Amino acid sequence: MHTSQPATGGKKSPGTLHVVATPIGNLGDLSARALETLKTVDAICAEDTRHTRQLLSHFGLERPLIALHEHNEDAQAAQLVARLQLGESFALVSDAGTPLVSDPGFRLVRAARAAGLRVSPVPGACAAIAALSIAGMPSDRFVFEGFLPAKASARRERLSRLTGEVRTLIFYESAHRIEESLDDLVAAFGEARRGTIARELTKLFETVLDGTLADLRQRVGADANQRKGEFVLIVEGAGEDADAAVAEGKRLYAKLTEYLKPSQAAKLAAELSGAPRKALYGAEE
Ligand code: SAM
Repeated sequence: MHTSQPATGGKKSPGTLHVVATPIGNLGDLSARALETLKTVDAICAEDTRHTRQLLSHFGLERPLIALHEHNEDAQAAQLVARLQLGESFALVSDAGTPLVSDPGFRLVRAARAAGLRVSPVPGACAAIAALSIAGMPSDRFVFEGFLPAKASARRERLSRLTGEVRTLIFYESAHRIEESLDDLVAAFGEARRGTIARELTKLFETVLDGTLADLRQRVGADANQRKGEFVLIVEGAGEDADAAVAEGKRLYAKLTEYLKPSQAAKLAAELSGAPRKALYGAEE
């Protein structure tokens, strides 16, 4: 015998995608609400399932895990949206900190929102914000630049477009490129520009160095320990007097090229004026 069901009978309402921040080092930074959310969702979408399994096991949790990384995100997003529509709820986590911040998740979040689904944040640690909060740099306006390009030419090109930026700049960097990036920051922003290096935040070897970029470069070069771990680089924005420094640098450069090679003249003019060396090349034209 056929029994008809009411039109909405048994149909679950759509689920929620919870975007959950996890610690950037200290596991004590997982919030109570993050823990509760991870406990109650149907599955957890994780950048690296092994890594997330370790986090869960530390908290005595076991949940189904779904790998979601940059190589499968488009394909996974469609399937996950379909499952959300059928009533399942998921958490999205990355290996550390806030998902989507230099981490996967953007495509999934966009697809879920486009489908009219609820996407809800469970905020928590983010290395950029943690670093900004202790750097003592102006923080009313800042720009997050994420990772600089790996290729030297692309990195320098990116930095050359930021030299006049007045807001505080935040970059992520890894141990194997820290020295090269510092070299390029010095060349782009000038030796005298101030910066902060926030290393291994919330971990055993947490270190925060501040000073001029030239000073920071020197300290990192001189101590192998300062080249280990994970880094947030903060660079002070171009100040009111940046234009004056560049004008002075250009004047010096024009004079010095009468006696020195252009590269030497630019180096010396930059040092004396505090202007970025890059801003002085071609100053005589
Ligand atoms: N989603 C993360 C967040 O919210 O900060 C960032 C992920 S990104 C793939 C990893 C980078 O973040 C590292 O290379 C480093 O630049 C920065 N980072 C992460 N944890 C850090 C920590 N404990 N101390 C300093 N920098 C950290």
